[in-house]
Amino acid sequence: MKKVVVIFNGGTIAMKVDERIHAAVPSLSGEEVMSMVTGIESHAVVESHNFSSLPSPHVTPELMLELSNYVKTFLDRDDVDGVVVTHGTDTLEETAYFLHLTINSDKPVVVTGSMRNGSELGYDGPANLSAAICTAISDESRGRGVLVCLNDEINAASEVTKSHSMKLNTFESPEFGLVGIVDDNKAHFYRESLDHDYIDIDKIETNVDLIKACAGMDGKLVDFCVENGAKGLVIEAMGRGNIPPKMAASVKNAICKGIPVVLVSRCYRGRVLDSYGYEGGGKDLRTAGVIFGDDMPGQKARIKLIIALGKTNSIDEIREIFENGRY
Ligand code: ASP
Repeated sequence: MKKVVVIFNGGTIAMKVDERIHAAVPSLSGEEVMSMVTGIESHAVVESHNFSSLPSPHVTPELMLELSNYVKTFLDRDDVDGVVVTHGTDTLEETAYFLHLTINSDKPVVVTGSMRNGSELGYDGPANLSAAICTAISDESRGRGVLVCLNDEINAASEVTKSHSMKLNTFESPEFGLVGIVDDNKAHFYRESLDHDYIDIDKIETNVDLIKACAGMDGKLVDFCVENGAKGLVIEAMGRGNIPPKMAASVKNAICKGIPVVLVSRCYRGRVLDSYGYEGGGKDLRTAGVIFGDDMPGQKARIKLIIALGKTNSIDEIREIFENGRY
């Protein structure tokens, strides 16, 4: 029987309601959650470890790097066939993408969590955990990069985002849809994700800010980040990749100072491109040296920039990393 290491790492899947404050807080140990995944012993040998009990908003890029190195220690073991990591769903896509970009192994790594806590009716933790373990033991899951499995749906970490604040089927890959499903305790795949980007790093640059553009915005937030030592910026631009003129002036100033600026769209779906030539349009920004971030949401582009800056300070190399993948 295959062996799966389950790394417990916080999130709602390990929470219950504290009756004094009527709100969910971390309270379940890995062992307690695992004991609810009844019958799993007929499918896999499970070895559990506790990494953290943090809620999503407490997770940092430094912790993601620590987690990535921790996961690698298990993947290096010959007796381990795959790894499952639990995570709060709010920043799950950021950590899953971090792991995807920094782990170079064919063995399955599957990230899961839950939308309902252990005190709620319909707690989805055990079902999601068992589906993630079943995904991790599947031969078909090998070589696919990091996967995200909740609600019996499998998405690629490179494509997935949290789409709804409360629904159980919150994880979606807006452009291309899910890669597979779990049915009758077995993973079934319907397509491949071609994003196999791997960035070999041993450090990261966390001083990277994310700014969302909106109508009439000026450059003060961009200026503030630059003045406060940002080493990289991600701009969630409008539509195809356009920003207001005053903001554009500040972005150009940031680039002149040697700060890489990655442009993505604030639209839920679609790539950015240099289609518009007016001031602040994509063409104007590309001419100024902005890096285009394809169809990623800002929070995932920021993770990629944090990792890319751990490898190189060269804007040209960072552009390669962002624009040479699926471009
Ligand atoms: N706020 C929670 C967290 O991300 C949500 C969840 O885990 O589903 O930690």
